[in-house]
Amino acid sequence: MASNLPTSIGVLTSGGDAQGMNAAVRAVVRSALHQGAAVHAIFEGYQGMVDGGDRIRSLSWDDVGSILHRGGTVIGTARCPAFREREGRRRAARNLLQRGIDRLVIIGGDGSLTGANLFRQEWPELLTELVQAGEIDEATAQAHPALMIAGLVGSIDNDMVGTDMTIGADSALHRIIEAIDALTSTAASHQRSFVVEVMGRHCGYLALTSAIAGGTDYVLIPEYPPAEGWEDRMCELLRHGRAAGRRDSIVVVAEGATDRAGNRIGGDYIRRILEERLGEDTRVTILGHVQRGGTPSAYDRWMSTLVGHAAVQELLAATPDSEPQLIGVRYNRVRRLPLMQCVEQTRAIARTIAEKDYAKAVELRGGSFTEMTKTFRAMAEALPSVTPPVRPRRIAVLHGGGLAPGMNTAARAAVRLGRDRGHVMLGVHGSFAGLVDGRIKELTWGDVEGWTALGGAELGASRQIPTTEQLYAVARSLETHDIDALLVIGGWKAYQALHRLDSERERYPAFKIPMVCLPATIDNNLPGSDLSIGADTALNVIVEALDRIKQSAMAARRCFVVEVMGRHCGYLAMMSGLAGGAERIYLPEEGITLKDLQADVERMVESFRGGRRLYLTIRNEQANALYTTDFLARLFEEEGGQLFDVRQAVLGHIQQGGNPSPFDRILATRLAAHGIDFLTTELERGTAVGVFMGLAEGKLTAFPIKQMADMVDITNRRPLEQWWLDLRSVMQAMAQPTLADSSGSI
Ligand code: ADP
Repeated sequence: MASNLPTSIGVLTSGGDAQGMNAAVRAVVRSALHQGAAVHAIFEGYQGMVDGGDRIRSLSWDDVGSILHRGGTVIGTARCPAFREREGRRRAARNLLQRGIDRLVIIGGDGSLTGANLFRQEWPELLTELVQAGEIDEATAQAHPALMIAGLVGSIDNDMVGTDMTIGADSALHRIIEAIDALTSTAASHQRSFVVEVMGRHCGYLALTSAIAGGTDYVLIPEYPPAEGWEDRMCELLRHGRAAGRRDSIVVVAEGATDRAGNRIGGDYIRRILEERLGEDTRVTILGHVQRGGTPSAYDRWMSTLVGHAAVQELLAATPDSEPQLIGVRYNRVRRLPLMQCVEQTRAIARTIAEKDYAKAVELRGGSFTEMTKTFRAMAEALPSVTPPVRPRRIAVLHGGGLAPGMNTAARAAVRLGRDRGHVMLGVHGSFAGLVDGRIKELTWGDVEGWTALGGAELGASRQIPTTEQLYAVARSLETHDIDALLVIGGWKAYQALHRLDSERERYPAFKIPMVCLPATIDNNLPGSDLSIGADTALNVIVEALDRIKQSAMAARRCFVVEVMGRHCGYLAMMSGLAGGAERIYLPEEGITLKDLQADVERMVESFRGGRRLYLTIRNEQANALYTTDFLARLFEEEGGQLFDVRQAVLGHIQQGGNPSPFDRILATRLAAHGIDFLTTELERGTAVGVFMGLAEGKLTAFPIKQMADMVDITNRRPLEQWWLDLRSVMQAMAQPTLADSSGSI
């Protein structure tokens, strides 16, 4: 009986729901089927496992179609007191064994993962009891001597050690930022103050990141209870901000925030302080469950897909002796760590906070958390933290290349952080042409107010870079305006321009100043950085468009050919394919051959014959010069005959528009902070190198601009190494039901 069944994996979601859980479930189901394993969904968390019956059902490929964009979890979640009891777990073991399930993917918080581990430890004893009671036979028990588990963390709080991001945290951040942006505009209109309370009982991640991304004035988090007298300091800080030109004040408070004595600091208390001491009209907004809701962000879809896929790989390779693993992400790559070690360390942080050892708690959260708290403070305070020198250094900020959402966020952060260091910050309007024409103006703290959330580029961006003939004029301008350092935020053209200035240093001494380029382009085609500012926003725009496109096709049997930007870099096509649930993507890195197209048409026809109603293909704009989007659409139309129709959608410039996503705002702020740090050090030392900076595998590196040539494919204007190309196998598993099917390209 049960022992003869094929390897079977069970998947469940448990504890609090989180956006992106569906993407993880879909990835588990499809990866398992792709590998030839059976897969069962356990509905309503552990309750379904205890109840059995039709709460444990095998799922097919199509059962998890059209769930990627849905919030919550379609297989349900619950808190289950019965599973905390041994009897409940005994019944659960029986129900699993009846279906041959001895491998589980648990998607939940630390409670759910602890429960899973206990269940695994008891498994052999539970089996013995079940055999003795005659509920399962000896052969079944022998065939499944161990329970193998892989844990994925579903929690909007981002509170788990072992993964950079938990499933749902990025979407929650989207909800919070939507709210803060909305409140900012109404607050500014009435010169009003708002206190925004966000989730996070033990973890200040959501509060801190939304305070940075939302450009707010003050933040209170559990890991950093403010010292006595904080109310005075908060009021002082808000007063400075008002004096420097702010029209609104926003204070973010995590639900678990306390003072040093451990007393909870609620929104109402802060409101009273602001009203009494500053005479400000103040309102409190508690975001509550809105943060859990809504459609998952692009990140939550692709990240959850990655970890879901990896969990299946883990379980299929597991042996009865394997230690349970937590499958998380580190620097956008999948990372496996012993499950219980992660749970233990997570609990240790909560204990540290309870014991009021706050310095330790912050340290345990990791380096970038500490860095973010410092950056936030420096940006929120209108007065510099150092006494400006008699002759402050003058740093010019400009954009180069195409527009990227987040350019304003980076410029604002650079201006505020530069001023904090005592520099004079200059904004160059109109990119390098503006530099030549002298369109240069000092920017104050208040001048950049409100730029955090603004799409576009207030300083203007342009793909025009100085020609050899213009270099003299650029040098003159740098001299005339006493510019001591240059911070360029932009794309390929910006890098090229800086490279040109750098290589002409001997001829033009004015170029012998420190220069930094920060990556900002939706194409994500720059060397030295895993991600560039703007790419996440563009991805979210594409994914939202794909959701609508898919909905529009509900009534017909239709194939869509959607063209996305990226120039010669397939990043947007790849990631939107993963996050949007495409059947096929066309990348410039792979090109398109006639043989590919023939195989695609055959697969498409077969798929529609099998009952498919929608086939989504995504083509990068430069995937092939001749096999254009229009060509592909016509080819599929012709070959599809009466079976299906074909539509094309060229998404175009909407991809460069929109307000920056929370992730892009944070990336922009972090990179700008490092850019200013770098320039400050160079100015202090009296050295003057030209570099481009980036975050790759978590490491912030400044590469000499000369090195660029060694790191890129110059003809195709993209980095030689592109980390995301490794995700093609995941894409294949999501799009093609069987291994045999996946010999061709994706
Ligand atoms: P989360 O997983 O989000 O932390 P909970 O702590 O509420 O949420 O856990 C969800 C479910 O996981 C519980 O209702 C229970 O069924 C199970 N669970 C949690 N902790 C344990 C435990 N120590 N032993 C057994 N089951 C547990």
